[in-house]
Amino acid sequence: MIDKIVIANRGEIALRILRACQELGIKTVALHSDIDSNLKHVILADETVCIGPAPSPQSYLNIPSIISAAEITDATAIHPGYGFLAENADFAERVEQSGFIFIGPRAETIRLMGDKVSAIAAMKSAGVPCVPGSDGPLGDDDATNLRLAAEIGYPLIIKAAGGGGGRGMREVHSEAHLLNAISLTKTEAGTIFGNDMVYMEKFLMDPRHIEFQVLSDKHGNAIHLGERDCSMQRRHQKVVEEAPAPGITPEVRNRMGAVCADACRKIGYHGAGTFEFLYEKGEFYFIEMNTRIQVEHPVTEQVTRIDLIAEQIRIAAGEPLSIKQEDVVMHGHAIECRINAEDAETFMPSPGLISHYHAPGGVGIRVDSHIYSGYRVPPTYDSMICKLIAYGNDRASAIARMRTALNEIGIEGIKTNVALQQKIMDDTHFQTGGANIHYLEKKLGL
Ligand code: ADP
Repeated sequence: MIDKIVIANRGEIALRILRACQELGIKTVALHSDIDSNLKHVILADETVCIGPAPSPQSYLNIPSIISAAEITDATAIHPGYGFLAENADFAERVEQSGFIFIGPRAETIRLMGDKVSAIAAMKSAGVPCVPGSDGPLGDDDATNLRLAAEIGYPLIIKAAGGGGGRGMREVHSEAHLLNAISLTKTEAGTIFGNDMVYMEKFLMDPRHIEFQVLSDKHGNAIHLGERDCSMQRRHQKVVEEAPAPGITPEVRNRMGAVCADACRKIGYHGAGTFEFLYEKGEFYFIEMNTRIQVEHPVTEQVTRIDLIAEQIRIAAGEPLSIKQEDVVMHGHAIECRINAEDAETFMPSPGLISHYHAPGGVGIRVDSHIYSGYRVPPTYDSMICKLIAYGNDRASAIARMRTALNEIGIEGIKTNVALQQKIMDDTHFQTGGANIHYLEKKLGL
Protein backbone atom coordinates (compact mmCIF):
# COMPACT_ATOMS: atom_id res chain seq x y z
CA MET A 1 0.00 0.00 0.00
CA ILE A 2 0.99 3.59 -0.53
CA ASP A 3 0.88 5.52 2.76
CA LYS A 4 3.02 8.56 2.02
CA ILE A 5 3.44 10.43 -1.28
CA VAL A 6 6.11 12.94 -2.22
CA ILE A 7 4.63 15.64 -4.47
CA ALA A 8 7.44 16.57 -6.87
CA ASN A 9 5.77 19.60 -8.42
CA ARG A 10 4.33 23.01 -7.58
CA GLY A 11 1.31 25.23 -8.14
CA GLU A 12 -2.21 24.04 -8.88
CA ILE A 13 -1.31 20.44 -9.75
CA ALA A 14 0.61 19.98 -6.48
CA LEU A 15 -2.49 21.18 -4.62
CA ARG A 16 -4.71 18.88 -6.71
CA ILE A 17 -2.50 15.88 -5.82
CA LEU A 18 -2.46 16.88 -2.15
CA ARG A 19 -6.26 16.99 -2.06
CA ALA A 20 -6.54 13.54 -3.65
CA CYS A 21 -4.05 12.12 -1.10
CA GLN A 22 -5.95 13.62 1.81
CA GLU A 23 -9.21 12.07 0.59
CA LEU A 24 -7.50 8.69 0.30
CA GLY A 25 -5.94 9.00 3.77
CA ILE A 26 -2.39 9.17 2.36
CA LYS A 27 0.22 11.38 4.05
CA THR A 28 1.89 14.05 1.93
CA VAL A 29 5.36 15.52 1.55
CA ALA A 30 5.50 18.83 -0.34
CA LEU A 31 8.82 19.57 -2.04
CA HIS A 32 9.51 23.18 -2.84
CA SER A 33 12.19 25.59 -4.00
CA ASP A 34 13.33 28.29 -1.60
CA ILE A 35 10.94 30.90 -3.08
CA ASP A 36 7.93 28.56 -2.95
CA SER A 37 7.47 28.05 0.80
CA ASN A 38 4.28 30.18 0.61
CA LEU A 39 2.51 27.82 -1.85
CA LYS A 40 -0.89 26.66 -0.65
CA HIS A 41 -0.06 22.93 -0.80
CA VAL A 42 3.20 23.51 1.08
CA ILE A 43 1.22 25.17 3.87
CA LEU A 44 -1.30 22.27 3.90
CA ALA A 45 1.07 19.28 3.55
CA ASP A 46 1.96 16.92 6.41
CA GLU A 47 5.68 17.43 5.79
CA THR A 48 7.72 19.79 3.64
CA VAL A 49 11.27 19.70 2.27
CA CYS A 50 13.07 22.59 0.58
CA ILE A 51 14.93 20.96 -2.32
CA GLY A 52 16.95 23.88 -3.62
CA PRO A 53 17.06 27.40 -5.01
CA ALA A 54 14.44 28.93 -7.34
CA PRO A 55 15.83 27.94 -10.80
CA SER A 56 14.15 24.61 -11.68
CA PRO A 57 17.38 22.77 -12.65
CA GLN A 58 18.45 23.22 -9.03
CA SER A 59 15.11 22.29 -7.46
CA TYR A 60 12.13 20.81 -9.35
CA LEU A 61 14.46 19.15 -11.88
CA ASN A 62 17.10 18.16 -9.33
CA ILE A 63 16.77 14.35 -9.25
CA PRO A 64 19.24 13.59 -6.40
CA SER A 65 17.58 16.23 -4.21
CA ILE A 66 14.10 14.79 -4.83
CA ILE A 67 15.21 11.20 -4.14
CA SER A 68 16.96 12.33 -0.91
CA ALA A 69 13.77 14.08 0.20
CA ALA A 70 11.81 10.85 -0.34
CA GLU A 71 14.44 8.95 1.68
CA ILE A 72 14.56 11.27 4.66
CA THR A 73 10.77 11.44 4.90
CA ASP A 74 10.43 7.66 4.49
CA ALA A 75 7.88 8.04 1.68
CA THR A 76 6.44 5.21 -0.43
CA ALA A 77 5.80 6.88 -3.75
CA ILE A 78 6.53 9.98 -5.84
CA HIS A 79 3.92 11.82 -7.92
CA PRO A 80 5.57 13.94 -10.65
CA GLY A 81 2.47 15.91 -11.75
CA TYR A 82 2.95 17.39 -15.26
CA GLY A 83 5.90 19.27 -16.72
CA PHE A 84 9.24 19.20 -14.86
CA LEU A 85 10.27 15.50 -14.52
CA ALA A 86 6.89 13.93 -15.35
CA GLU A 87 8.06 12.52 -18.71
CA ASN A 88 11.71 11.96 -17.83
CA ALA A 89 12.40 8.22 -18.18
CA ASP A 90 15.71 8.48 -16.28
CA PHE A 91 13.88 10.02 -13.33
CA ALA A 92 11.23 7.27 -13.31
CA GLU A 93 14.04 4.70 -13.39
CA ARG A 94 15.96 6.36 -10.54
CA VAL A 95 12.80 6.56 -8.42
CA GLU A 96 12.13 2.83 -8.83
CA GLN A 97 15.81 1.87 -8.36
CA SER A 98 15.81 3.82 -5.10
CA GLY A 99 12.93 1.70 -3.83
CA PHE A 100 10.02 4.10 -4.37
CA ILE A 101 6.92 3.76 -6.53
CA PHE A 102 6.83 6.16 -9.51
CA ILE A 103 3.21 7.25 -10.04
CA GLY A 104 3.19 6.87 -13.81
CA PRO A 105 4.08 4.30 -16.46
CA ARG A 106 7.27 2.22 -16.59
CA ALA A 107 10.48 4.05 -17.55
CA GLU A 108 10.72 2.04 -20.78
CA THR A 109 7.22 3.16 -21.80
CA ILE A 110 8.10 6.81 -21.14
CA ARG A 111 11.25 6.34 -23.24
CA LEU A 112 9.33 4.65 -26.07
CA MET A 113 6.73 7.44 -26.21
CA GLY A 114 9.28 10.23 -25.70
CA ASP A 115 10.87 9.47 -29.08
CA LYS A 116 8.26 10.37 -31.67
CA VAL A 117 9.67 7.99 -34.29
CA SER A 118 9.51 4.99 -31.94
CA ALA A 119 6.14 6.15 -30.59
CA ILE A 120 4.63 6.28 -34.08
CA ALA A 121 6.08 2.86 -34.93
CA ALA A 122 4.65 1.34 -31.73
CA MET A 123 1.25 2.93 -32.35
CA LYS A 124 1.11 1.83 -35.96
CA SER A 125 1.78 -1.76 -34.99
CA ALA A 126 -0.86 -1.47 -32.24
CA GLY A 127 -3.43 -0.44 -34.88
CA VAL A 128 -3.63 3.29 -34.07
CA PRO A 129 -4.12 5.50 -37.17
CA CYS A 130 -1.11 7.80 -37.73
CA VAL A 131 -0.37 10.72 -40.08
CA PRO A 132 0.95 9.39 -43.43
CA GLY A 133 4.70 9.91 -43.31
CA SER A 134 8.22 8.55 -43.64
CA ASP A 135 7.56 5.83 -41.03
CA GLY A 136 11.04 6.23 -39.66
CA PRO A 137 13.98 8.63 -39.52
CA LEU A 138 15.15 10.41 -42.67
CA GLY A 139 18.56 9.34 -43.97
CA ASP A 140 21.18 11.43 -45.77
CA ASP A 141 20.28 10.39 -49.32
CA ASP A 142 18.64 13.37 -51.04
CA ALA A 143 17.12 11.32 -53.87
CA THR A 144 15.42 8.95 -51.40
CA ASN A 145 14.04 11.89 -49.37
CA LEU A 146 12.71 13.62 -52.49
CA ARG A 147 11.05 10.40 -53.62
CA LEU A 148 9.50 9.79 -50.16
CA ALA A 149 8.15 13.35 -50.10
CA ALA A 150 6.63 12.99 -53.57
CA GLU A 151 4.93 9.77 -52.47
CA ILE A 152 3.44 11.36 -49.34
CA GLY A 153 2.55 14.57 -51.19
CA TYR A 154 3.00 18.25 -50.28
CA PRO A 155 2.50 20.12 -47.96
CA LEU A 156 4.71 18.25 -45.50
CA ILE A 157 6.07 18.87 -42.05
CA ILE A 158 9.59 17.90 -40.97
CA LYS A 159 9.65 17.03 -37.27
CA ALA A 160 12.38 16.26 -34.73
CA ALA A 161 12.08 12.79 -33.16
CA GLY A 162 13.04 14.28 -29.81
CA GLY A 163 10.97 17.46 -30.23
CA GLY A 164 8.48 18.89 -27.76
CA GLY A 165 6.76 22.08 -26.66
CA GLY A 166 5.86 22.96 -30.25
CA ARG A 167 9.55 23.30 -31.26
CA GLY A 168 11.57 21.41 -33.85
CA MET A 169 8.98 21.47 -36.66
CA ARG A 170 9.14 22.97 -40.16
CA GLU A 171 6.45 23.10 -42.83
CA VAL A 172 7.44 22.43 -46.46
CA HIS A 173 5.04 23.52 -49.20
CA SER A 174 7.00 22.57 -52.31
CA GLU A 175 9.79 20.29 -53.53
CA ALA A 176 12.19 23.22 -54.00
CA HIS A 177 12.34 23.77 -50.23
CA LEU A 178 12.49 20.15 -49.04
CA LEU A 179 16.21 19.44 -48.76
CA ASN A 180 17.00 22.76 -47.14
CA ALA A 181 14.17 22.28 -44.62
CA ILE A 182 15.45 18.81 -43.70
CA SER A 183 18.96 20.06 -43.11
CA LEU A 184 17.81 23.12 -41.11
CA THR A 185 15.52 21.05 -38.88
CA LYS A 186 18.29 18.47 -38.33
CA THR A 187 20.74 21.16 -37.20
CA GLU A 188 18.14 22.80 -35.00
CA ALA A 189 17.07 19.47 -33.45
CA GLY A 190 20.70 18.58 -32.69
CA THR A 191 21.23 21.92 -30.95
CA ILE A 192 17.97 22.08 -28.99
CA PHE A 193 17.27 18.43 -28.19
CA GLY A 194 20.74 16.87 -28.51
CA ASN A 195 19.30 14.45 -31.09
CA ASP A 196 19.30 15.34 -34.78
CA MET A 197 16.94 12.56 -35.87
CA VAL A 198 14.09 13.97 -38.00
CA TYR A 199 11.15 12.43 -39.86
CA MET A 200 8.47 13.75 -42.19
CA GLU A 201 4.73 13.56 -42.29
CA LYS A 202 1.84 15.04 -44.22
CA PHE A 203 0.97 18.55 -43.04
CA LEU A 204 -2.73 18.73 -42.29
CA MET A 205 -4.21 22.09 -43.27
CA ASP A 206 -7.10 22.66 -40.84
CA PRO A 207 -7.32 19.88 -38.27
CA ARG A 208 -8.85 19.96 -34.80
CA HIS A 209 -6.90 18.68 -31.79
CA ILE A 210 -8.82 15.82 -30.20
CA GLU A 211 -7.29 13.60 -27.52
CA PHE A 212 -8.43 10.47 -25.68
CA GLN A 213 -7.94 9.86 -21.96
CA VAL A 214 -7.02 6.31 -20.90
CA LEU A 215 -6.51 4.42 -17.65
CA SER A 216 -4.58 1.17 -17.71
CA ASP A 217 -3.62 -1.02 -14.74
CA LYS A 218 -0.80 -3.50 -14.07
CA HIS A 219 -3.13 -6.47 -14.62
CA GLY A 220 -3.83 -5.95 -18.31
CA ASN A 221 -7.06 -3.95 -17.92
CA ALA A 222 -7.43 -0.75 -19.90
CA ILE A 223 -10.36 1.64 -20.43
CA HIS A 224 -10.91 4.99 -22.12
CA LEU A 225 -12.70 7.98 -20.61
CA GLY A 226 -13.72 9.63 -23.84
CA GLU A 227 -12.16 12.58 -25.57
CA ARG A 228 -11.32 16.25 -25.11
CA ASP A 229 -11.21 18.98 -27.74
CA CYS A 230 -8.17 21.24 -27.27
CA SER A 231 -8.23 23.10 -30.58
CA MET A 232 -8.22 26.60 -29.03
CA GLN A 233 -4.45 27.08 -29.13
CA ARG A 234 -1.91 29.87 -29.38
CA ARG A 235 1.60 28.91 -30.51
CA HIS A 236 0.68 25.21 -30.14
CA GLN A 237 -0.25 25.87 -26.49
CA LYS A 238 -3.76 25.02 -25.32
CA VAL A 239 -5.87 27.93 -24.06
CA VAL A 240 -9.36 26.36 -23.68
CA GLU A 241 -10.25 22.67 -23.45
CA GLU A 242 -13.56 20.87 -23.35
CA ALA A 243 -15.19 17.47 -23.03
CA PRO A 244 -16.81 15.92 -24.95
CA ALA A 245 -15.57 17.23 -28.33
CA PRO A 246 -18.40 18.88 -30.31
CA GLY A 247 -19.72 16.64 -33.07
CA ILE A 248 -18.07 13.40 -31.97
CA THR A 249 -20.78 10.75 -31.84
CA PRO A 250 -20.90 8.00 -29.20
CA GLU A 251 -20.07 5.47 -31.96
CA VAL A 252 -16.91 7.33 -33.02
CA ARG A 253 -15.94 7.89 -29.35
CA ASN A 254 -16.33 4.21 -28.54
CA ARG A 255 -14.48 3.06 -31.66
CA MET A 256 -11.49 5.40 -31.19
CA GLY A 257 -11.45 4.99 -27.41
CA ALA A 258 -11.34 1.21 -27.87
CA VAL A 259 -8.39 1.57 -30.28
CA CYS A 260 -6.50 3.57 -27.60
CA ALA A 261 -7.35 1.20 -24.74
CA ASP A 262 -6.29 -1.72 -26.91
CA ALA A 263 -2.95 -0.02 -27.66
CA CYS A 264 -2.41 0.40 -23.89
CA ARG A 265 -2.85 -3.34 -23.38
CA LYS A 266 -0.48 -4.08 -26.26
CA ILE A 267 2.36 -1.86 -24.95
CA GLY A 268 1.80 -2.77 -21.28
CA TYR A 269 0.87 0.76 -20.31
CA HIS A 270 0.46 1.54 -16.57
CA GLY A 271 -1.41 4.59 -15.34
CA ALA A 272 -3.27 7.54 -16.81
CA GLY A 273 -2.31 8.61 -20.31
CA THR A 274 -3.47 10.63 -23.28
CA PHE A 275 -3.47 9.79 -26.98
CA GLU A 276 -3.28 13.04 -28.95
CA PHE A 277 -4.77 13.14 -32.45
CA LEU A 278 -5.26 15.62 -35.22
CA TYR A 279 -8.80 15.22 -36.54
CA GLU A 280 -9.62 16.28 -40.09
CA LYS A 281 -12.47 15.38 -42.45
CA GLY A 282 -13.71 12.68 -40.09
CA GLU A 283 -10.32 10.94 -39.76
CA PHE A 284 -8.06 10.69 -36.69
CA TYR A 285 -4.27 10.90 -36.99
CA PHE A 286 -2.11 10.06 -33.94
CA ILE A 287 0.57 12.68 -33.20
CA GLU A 288 1.85 11.76 -29.74
CA MET A 289 1.10 10.14 -26.41
CA ASN A 290 1.45 11.98 -23.10
CA THR A 291 2.48 9.53 -20.40
CA ARG A 292 1.28 11.65 -17.47
CA ILE A 293 -1.70 13.51 -16.03
CA GLN A 294 -2.53 16.54 -18.16
CA VAL A 295 -3.44 20.14 -17.32
CA GLU A 296 -6.87 19.62 -18.90
CA HIS A 297 -7.79 16.44 -16.96
CA PRO A 298 -10.57 18.18 -14.93
CA VAL A 299 -12.96 18.42 -17.90
CA THR A 300 -12.85 14.63 -18.20
CA GLU A 301 -13.35 14.29 -14.43
CA GLN A 302 -16.42 16.53 -14.58
CA VAL A 303 -18.15 14.59 -17.36
CA THR A 304 -17.17 11.07 -16.23
CA ARG A 305 -17.29 11.73 -12.44
CA ILE A 306 -14.03 9.78 -12.11
CA ASP A 307 -11.15 11.15 -10.04
CA LEU A 308 -8.14 10.68 -12.31
CA ILE A 309 -5.47 11.41 -9.69
CA ALA A 310 -6.99 8.90 -7.27
CA GLU A 311 -7.04 6.33 -10.10
CA GLN A 312 -3.37 7.04 -10.89
CA ILE A 313 -2.48 6.37 -7.26
CA ARG A 314 -4.53 3.15 -7.10
CA ILE A 315 -2.96 1.85 -10.29
CA ALA A 316 0.56 2.67 -9.03
CA ALA A 317 -0.26 0.79 -5.81
CA GLY A 318 -0.97 -2.28 -7.96
CA GLU A 319 -4.73 -2.34 -7.58
CA PRO A 320 -6.80 -3.54 -10.52
CA LEU A 321 -9.05 -0.92 -12.15
CA SER A 322 -12.27 -0.58 -10.16
CA ILE A 323 -14.14 0.77 -13.16
CA LYS A 324 -15.16 -1.22 -16.22
CA GLN A 325 -15.64 0.33 -19.63
CA GLU A 326 -19.42 -0.04 -19.37
CA ASP A 327 -19.33 1.92 -16.05
CA VAL A 328 -17.91 4.98 -17.83
CA VAL A 329 -20.86 7.21 -18.65
CA MET A 330 -20.60 10.73 -20.05
CA HIS A 331 -22.76 13.34 -18.33
CA GLY A 332 -23.18 16.85 -19.74
CA HIS A 333 -20.39 19.11 -20.90
CA ALA A 334 -17.32 20.70 -19.25
CA ILE A 335 -15.06 23.55 -20.37
CA GLU A 336 -11.74 24.67 -18.88
CA CYS A 337 -10.20 28.13 -19.28
CA ARG A 338 -6.53 28.48 -18.41
CA ILE A 339 -6.03 31.72 -16.47
CA ASN A 340 -2.47 32.99 -16.89
CA ALA A 341 -0.57 35.82 -15.23
CA GLU A 342 -0.01 37.63 -18.49
CA ASP A 343 -1.18 40.63 -20.50
CA ALA A 344 -4.39 39.72 -22.40
CA GLU A 345 -3.19 41.61 -25.50
CA THR A 346 0.59 41.19 -25.64
CA PHE A 347 0.85 37.83 -23.77
CA MET A 348 3.83 39.20 -21.80
CA PRO A 349 4.10 37.44 -18.40
CA SER A 350 2.90 39.54 -15.47
CA PRO A 351 4.33 38.15 -12.22
CA GLY A 352 3.93 39.98 -8.91
CA LEU A 353 1.82 40.34 -5.79
CA ILE A 354 -1.88 39.42 -5.97
CA SER A 355 -3.24 42.18 -3.76
CA HIS A 356 -6.77 40.86 -3.89
CA TYR A 357 -8.33 37.61 -5.11
CA HIS A 358 -11.97 36.70 -5.30
CA ALA A 359 -12.83 33.20 -6.53
CA PRO A 360 -15.98 32.67 -8.58
CA GLY A 361 -18.47 30.01 -7.52
CA GLY A 362 -21.98 28.73 -7.99
CA VAL A 363 -23.53 25.66 -9.54
CA GLY A 364 -21.20 23.79 -11.89
CA ILE A 365 -18.09 25.90 -11.20
CA ARG A 366 -14.79 24.31 -10.19
CA VAL A 367 -11.64 26.34 -9.51
CA ASP A 368 -8.29 24.52 -9.48
CA SER A 369 -5.85 27.14 -8.28
CA HIS A 370 -3.16 27.73 -5.69
CA ILE A 371 -3.48 31.51 -5.53
CA TYR A 372 -4.85 33.61 -2.66
CA SER A 373 -4.91 37.30 -1.65
CA GLY A 374 -1.34 38.19 -0.71
CA TYR A 375 0.28 35.45 -2.86
CA ARG A 376 3.21 36.62 -4.99
CA VAL A 377 3.42 34.99 -8.45
CA PRO A 378 7.14 34.36 -9.06
CA PRO A 379 8.66 35.21 -12.47
CA THR A 380 10.56 31.91 -12.45
CA TYR A 381 7.92 29.35 -13.46
CA ASP A 382 4.95 28.81 -15.76
CA SER A 383 2.48 31.70 -15.83
CA MET A 384 -0.67 29.59 -15.39
CA ILE A 385 -2.20 30.53 -12.02
CA CYS A 386 -5.73 29.15 -12.20
CA LYS A 387 -7.91 26.68 -14.08
CA LEU A 388 -11.52 27.69 -14.24
CA ILE A 389 -13.82 24.78 -15.07
CA ALA A 390 -17.52 25.13 -15.87
CA TYR A 391 -19.90 22.20 -16.10
CA GLY A 392 -23.43 22.12 -17.47
CA ASN A 393 -26.02 19.64 -18.70
CA ASP A 394 -25.12 20.75 -22.21
CA ARG A 395 -22.46 22.84 -23.94
CA ALA A 396 -24.54 26.03 -24.02
CA SER A 397 -25.11 25.90 -20.27
CA ALA A 398 -21.38 25.23 -19.62
CA ILE A 399 -20.51 28.31 -21.71
CA ALA A 400 -23.15 30.42 -19.91
CA ARG A 401 -21.73 29.40 -16.52
CA MET A 402 -18.17 30.06 -17.69
CA ARG A 403 -19.14 33.57 -18.80
CA THR A 404 -20.68 34.27 -15.39
CA ALA A 405 -17.59 32.90 -13.63
CA LEU A 406 -15.21 34.96 -15.80
CA ASN A 407 -17.24 38.09 -14.94
CA GLU A 408 -17.08 37.22 -11.26
CA ILE A 409 -13.41 36.28 -10.84
CA GLY A 410 -11.35 39.07 -9.31
CA ILE A 411 -7.56 39.03 -9.48
CA GLU A 412 -5.92 42.36 -8.64
CA GLY A 413 -2.29 43.47 -8.60
CA ILE A 414 -1.21 41.51 -11.71
CA LYS A 415 -2.45 41.29 -15.28
CA THR A 416 -4.33 38.19 -16.42
CA ASN A 417 -5.79 36.80 -19.65
CA VAL A 418 -9.37 36.83 -18.30
CA ALA A 419 -10.38 39.33 -21.04
CA LEU A 420 -9.06 36.94 -23.72
CA GLN A 421 -11.09 34.08 -22.25
CA GLN A 422 -14.19 36.30 -22.23
CA LYS A 423 -13.59 37.12 -25.88
CA ILE A 424 -13.39 33.39 -26.71
CA MET A 425 -16.59 32.58 -24.77
CA ASP A 426 -18.38 35.45 -26.59
CA ASP A 427 -17.19 34.30 -30.02
CA THR A 428 -19.98 32.93 -32.19
CA HIS A 429 -17.74 30.40 -33.96
CA PHE A 430 -16.54 29.03 -30.61
CA GLN A 431 -20.16 28.90 -29.49
CA THR A 432 -21.05 26.84 -32.58
CA GLY A 433 -18.20 24.41 -31.74
CA GLY A 434 -15.68 22.55 -33.87
CA ALA A 435 -13.16 25.34 -34.60
CA ASN A 436 -9.77 24.14 -35.88
CA ILE A 437 -6.31 24.62 -34.32
CA HIS A 438 -5.60 27.82 -36.31
CA TYR A 439 -8.85 29.57 -35.45
CA LEU A 440 -7.76 31.38 -32.28
CA GLU A 441 -4.59 32.83 -33.83
CA LYS A 442 -6.55 33.94 -36.89
CA LYS A 443 -9.21 35.56 -34.71
CA LEU A 444 -6.51 37.37 -32.74
CA GLY A 445 -4.89 38.49 -35.97
CA LEU A 446 -1.57 36.89 -35.03
P1 ADP B 1 4.94 18.85 -29.46
O1 ADP B 1 5.44 17.58 -28.85
O2 ADP B 1 6.03 19.83 -29.72
O3 ADP B 1 3.75 19.43 -28.74
P2 ADP B 1 3.17 17.66 -31.49
O4 ADP B 1 3.63 16.59 -32.39
O5 ADP B 1 2.26 17.29 -30.38
O6 ADP B 1 4.45 18.46 -30.94
O7 ADP B 1 2.49 18.80 -32.36
C1 ADP B 1 2.13 20.05 -31.79
C2 ADP B 1 1.20 20.81 -32.68
O8 ADP B 1 1.84 21.04 -33.98
C3 ADP B 1 -0.11 20.10 -33.03
O9 ADP B 1 -1.09 20.28 -32.03
C4 ADP B 1 -0.47 20.81 -34.33
O10 ADP B 1 -0.95 22.11 -34.04
C5 ADP B 1 0.88 20.97 -35.02
N1 ADP B 1 1.19 19.79 -35.88
C6 ADP B 1 1.97 18.72 -35.57
N2 ADP B 1 2.00 17.81 -36.57
C7 ADP B 1 1.22 18.32 -37.57
C8 ADP B 1 0.82 17.86 -38.87
N3 ADP B 1 1.25 16.70 -39.38
N4 ADP B 1 0.01 18.66 -39.59
C9 ADP B 1 -0.43 19.84 -39.11
N5 ADP B 1 -0.10 20.33 -37.90
C10 ADP B 1 0.71 19.60 -37.13
